[in-house]
Amino acid sequence: VHPTAARRPHSLVVQSDLTSYTDDHITAKYTNRGANVTLNNGQLLINPTQESFEFQTKRAPSKTGLMMIGLGGNNGTTLTATILANRHNISWHTKDGLQQPNYIGSMLRASTVRIGTETGTGKDVHVPVSDVLPMVHPNDLVLGGWDISGVPMDQAMKRAKVLEWDLQRQVAPHMAAMKPLPSIYYPDFIAANQEGRADNVLAGTDKQAHLEQIRKDIRAFKQDNKLDRVVVFWTANTERYSDIIPGVNDTADNLLNSIKTSHNEVSPSTVFAVAAILEGEPFVNGAPQNTFVPGVIQLAERNKSFIGGDDLKSGQTKLKSVLAEFLVNAGIKPLSIASYNHLGNNDGHNLSSERQFKSKEISKSSVVDDMVDANRLLYKGPEGGKGKGEHPDHIVVIKYVPAVGDSKRAIDEYYSEIFCGGRSTINIFNECEDSLLATPLIIDLAILTELLTRVQYRKADSGEFQPLYSVLSLLSYMLKAPLVKPGTEVINSLNRQRNALDTFLKACLGLENNGDLLMETRIW
Ligand code: NAD
Repeated sequence: VHPTAARRPHSLVVQSDLTSYTDDHITAKYTNRGANVTLNNGQLLINPTQESFEFQTKRAPSKTGLMMIGLGGNNGTTLTATILANRHNISWHTKDGLQQPNYIGSMLRASTVRIGTETGTGKDVHVPVSDVLPMVHPNDLVLGGWDISGVPMDQAMKRAKVLEWDLQRQVAPHMAAMKPLPSIYYPDFIAANQEGRADNVLAGTDKQAHLEQIRKDIRAFKQDNKLDRVVVFWTANTERYSDIIPGVNDTADNLLNSIKTSHNEVSPSTVFAVAAILEGEPFVNGAPQNTFVPGVIQLAERNKSFIGGDDLKSGQTKLKSVLAEFLVNAGIKPLSIASYNHLGNNDGHNLSSERQFKSKEISKSSVVDDMVDANRLLYKGPEGGKGKGEHPDHIVVIKYVPAVGDSKRAIDEYYSEIFCGGRSTINIFNECEDSLLATPLIIDLAILTELLTRVQYRKADSGEFQPLYSVLSLLSYMLKAPLVKPGTEVINSLNRQRNALDTFLKACLGLENNGDLLMETRIW
């Protein structure tokens, strides 16, 4: 994981009729296998299906910028400082000794994927995920963005109180000249307690003018840094939910018109998303609010632009998406899941306000739904096919406790029914440095998003290659409430999300993700 370790050129070569290489592209044929199921007179009729695809991946990673909204916050400053530390190979003293920079916590740079078995020995061969297809190295991301607080980045890092002083001391000179661009501030959307920070805001209340300014900022950043691609990333405060109002934000045209008329219900994050879409640059939402009102999704589809969200899945929810699946898949029935958090950073301060907490509560709440819905042996289905069906009681509480700063505490109780009326209780106490968990997720999201802009597909051998669908649900692994193609199911299971990514990356090389059938270990 050392920064210099992974700078080799793309080094996997697939030798197969299905995969071909040119200087510019990797092209691979892939058969997608599934099964269609129909219920017929009490019988399930299952028809295996297969569909042929071809993937084409542009080999050269784009020169990529990452523009964060909320650059001066805990995540924005932590990401900037740690990338600088990696880029300049800065190590720092802690009470435990000398600490080297690394990318631990990044799925792409610190985890591996099984690519096959070694000829001769039959041993598994694992490669870093970032080696499967050519990807941007995080050290090469060009960083910038906006914040309603105009404090220069060295001071903002100090304010965040996340990083060790000896690291701060060394990266501060690199950060002093960085100042967030003025941003859009509509006080109605974030907690009133944030007002004191808002000294770096775009003038006036004309939302169309704000949209144009943000588009200009993206263009200028791209030109000034000679970039091919800019990922625009919301890591600013959690906003309240926007009401979905017919005629206002329900379609792309209505939304564009509502920005023109500066309608109250258009949030800053939605204006940013629209700006990115209109610039043809991807937008990722790292916070829980419904930035992606239906009009935004439609606009992204219309422009063949990419969007992904919502809300970084860093700690408690990540664990929950594993534990709940483990219990339900083990045939154990969670009856209640009670989650408490307290944290003392500015995110926690903002979330101490009711309407912003609501956004977080919603995003944290649906994480066990798919596991429960997948098991109708344990949980009764919806009566008459309507409503949600039986579900464990699930509550989420968040409290602001300034003293603990960025070191969030999460307490979860899983109370389950076991064999013949027995009960089992699992209690988890999880203490984590929030921004140190979130930063690698932001890096992974930006790098994966850039990669997905370079992958095109076509069905069978016919027709032109075209970009993937606008909503990048392949980013789900890093997100608490994954945004998916309307009408398709949300998958919260961390294992399935990871499996989807591994399968996709391998498919782009023409490799099947054989899973764990491991025939050679089962047969004579
Ligand atoms: P933070 O409060 O430290 O940083 C947010 C920054 O956004 C602040 O500097 C604030 O001034 C700025 N801001 C607010 N409104 C803005 C606007 N309209 N335009 C530009 N800047 C604006 O919070 P954080 O800890 O960095 O978290 C950022 C976001 O990520 C929060 O919404 C949080 O809920 C979400 N999140 C964080 C984690 C985590 O583990 N850190 C996990 C999931 C989600």
